[in-house]
Amino acid sequence: MGNDNSNEKEKSSNDNKIITNILDNNNNNNNKNKKEEKVITFINTNNTCYANSILQALLSLKIFKEKILSYLNNNNIHKYSTLKSLSELFNIIENKKKSDILNINDFINIIKNNNQEFNNDEHHDAHEFLTWLLDDIEQNINSIQKKNKKNNNKTNNNSTNNNNNNDNFIKDLFSGQQSSITKCLNCENTSEVFETFYNLSLDIETNSSLIYCLKNYFGTEILRSKDKFFCENCNSLQEAEKKVNLIKLPKILIIQLKRFKMKNYSNLIKLLGYVSIPKKFNANYLLKTKEEKEYNYKLKNMVIHLGQRGEYGHYFTLVNQENNKWINYNDEKSTYLNENDISKFFGNVDENNINFYSTTYLLFYELI
Ligand SMILES: [Zn+2]
Repeated sequence: MGNDNSNEKEKSSNDNKIITNILDNNNNNNNKNKKEEKVITFINTNNTCYANSILQALLSLKIFKEKILSYLNNNNIHKYSTLKSLSELFNIIENKKKSDILNINDFINIIKNNNQEFNNDEHHDAHEFLTWLLDDIEQNINSIQKKNKKNNNKTNNNSTNNNNNNDNFIKDLFSGQQSSITKCLNCENTSEVFETFYNLSLDIETNSSLIYCLKNYFGTEILRSKDKFFCENCNSLQEAEKKVNLIKLPKILIIQLKRFKMKNYSNLIKLLGYVSIPKKFNANYLLKTKEEKEYNYKLKNMVIHLGQRGEYGHYFTLVNQENNKWINYNDEKSTYLNENDISKFFGNVDENNINFYSTTYLLFYELI
């Protein structure tokens, strides 16, 4: 758990009990016909659930895992880089013959060294950690490529022992593209800005669906009053119409549900509302231009935030297995879930009757 006051601790521990009950029931049901599966979990040393939950989410993405492992013996990679240490950690996990609980302090210490933000025992936002981690790995890849180029120029020889020279797999797997078109409502002057995204952060509404939130994101809004837009043509703040278009979809679509909102500049309140999450969906209709290719996504995992507020709480990850069973990776513990139990984490239907504090926060969808 993160830094908490006693009230929060009590509520969260009740919440934990509810979850444990659900999970225990499922475990009993599943144990009868369950094949022995390798389940590796991580010890939570000092509030490191933000890292544990993200590692489990990333490990469940087979294509990502294989790319990371391919850098294990790369000679051009810095010994204490995030990419190197992640490939070593994944290699340890890959070579485990059976289920185990790992102490991953070596990896955590390298992370803390590579980013001072995380160099403490405080609660951290799992989304911030994920964004930084992918960005840092991308920088590691870029510096390897630079080194390779230098070496190749020197020796004028393209044969190196590294076969992943020009492979920016972070961009290849996670990046999509969007554009925003802003039209000044005074002079009708229009401007378009293109942006690459590595994940989508969606505003949520209670009692809605992910599809609704996505449609809302790729929609039109009017910028007015304090949100007015500076029009270069009018040379003044004007009301404007803004439309976000989806240009390109990624192979792995990461979605953050914006459940944490700043209130009065100091309190990070949590929106506990219900948002239904589809196990599969077709995303073609979101694209600006029609494409022949079908973009069908399958939900691979969900990172859940447990807690009433944003500053603290706990994270765990639900991973969709091949057989449509789910595993809950909760630090060193792991439990099985049935498909039907997943919706318990979608949030509270009635905003005034909040009884469950474990809600979806990050979603990882894979292209089928
Ligand atoms: Zn204008």
